[in-house]
Amino acid sequence: MSIAIPLLNEERVLPELLRRLRAVVDGLPGGPHQIVFVDDGSTDGSFGLLQQAAAADPRIVAISLSRNFGHQNALIAALDYVTGDVVVVMDADLQDPPEAIPRLLAEHALGYEVVFASRVGRKEPWPLRVCYYLFYRLIASMADLPLPLDAGDFAVLSRRVVEHLKNLPERHRYLRGLRSWVGFRQTGVPIERSERFAGTSKYGFWKLVRLALDGMFAFSVAPLRAAALLGAATISATLIYVAYALYAKIALHRSPPGFTALLVAVTLLAGIQLLFLGVIGEYIGRIYEESKGRPHYIVRDVVGNPGRPRP
Ligand code: UDP
Ligand code: MG
Repeated sequence: MSIAIPLLNEERVLPELLRRLRAVVDGLPGGPHQIVFVDDGSTDGSFGLLQQAAAADPRIVAISLSRNFGHQNALIAALDYVTGDVVVVMDADLQDPPEAIPRLLAEHALGYEVVFASRVGRKEPWPLRVCYYLFYRLIASMADLPLPLDAGDFAVLSRRVVEHLKNLPERHRYLRGLRSWVGFRQTGVPIERSERFAGTSKYGFWKLVRLALDGMFAFSVAPLRAAALLGAATISATLIYVAYALYAKIALHRSPPGFTALLVAVTLLAGIQLLFLGVIGEYIGRIYEESKGRPHYIVRDVVGNPGRPRP
């Protein structure tokens, strides 16, 4: 089994994380197991701590990226390096409790290739919880394939699933969606989402918004369809109004007044057009990103023995 953990500036969490992870891994049957940390361009002492840990424990591999590539890319790096037949994906901040790993593995042993943690009992402040709640439901209703609700990245993946994920060519990755896309037998286990052990969230507001947009645009063209639908609705409304205006002119001999109505209509339509220009722009921007074909990450250092890379 391998554990894949991307992290950014988590020096205050790492000692506790390592302690709890070791305790869990020691208790697992089989082995040798492996823990792969990917340091996503930390500016604190995280990588130093990881180097020490890797030197002291042959099960630990520490990889540092050349800069901050973002959580999803760091996760892809971790997936590229893990060699286990079963792979656990988790966050470094102990919001995903390591003690839950055996429960996920037990479910995997029943034949499920993807076992994800369904997040229950979140501890974040309520406005954020409302956003998470709405986001997962919005994206599930828009996506072209069924996406499980409240499923984060914490999961157990079979080797087959990891290989398929690695072979996906796309740049903008929303892994929890791609994980569903891959298919095979999947199931969720309700696992309480703990509070972050120390430090502050590395997902600022805009990073979260970007992740949400990545998820939405990668799994749905509904925003494009919305433009067409709104256009059709606008044309229908206009035709009705034209009919009324003609009737008023011919039968009642008066033209409807309307400087205010004119202003409202013009600014509203201009706004809608700009909005959907932006939506189209999002898709085009993503096409551009894909066409550049840059790698997801660049590795600076690998400490510890990652073992033989899989073909
Ligand atoms: N993380 C990362 N690169 C980033 C941002 C975050 O590797 O650019 C890691 C972070 O260290 C943590 C995980 O991704 O292990 C989830 O981030 P965080 O806990 O800050 O997000 P939240 O749980 O608040 O959404
Ligand atoms: Mg967290």
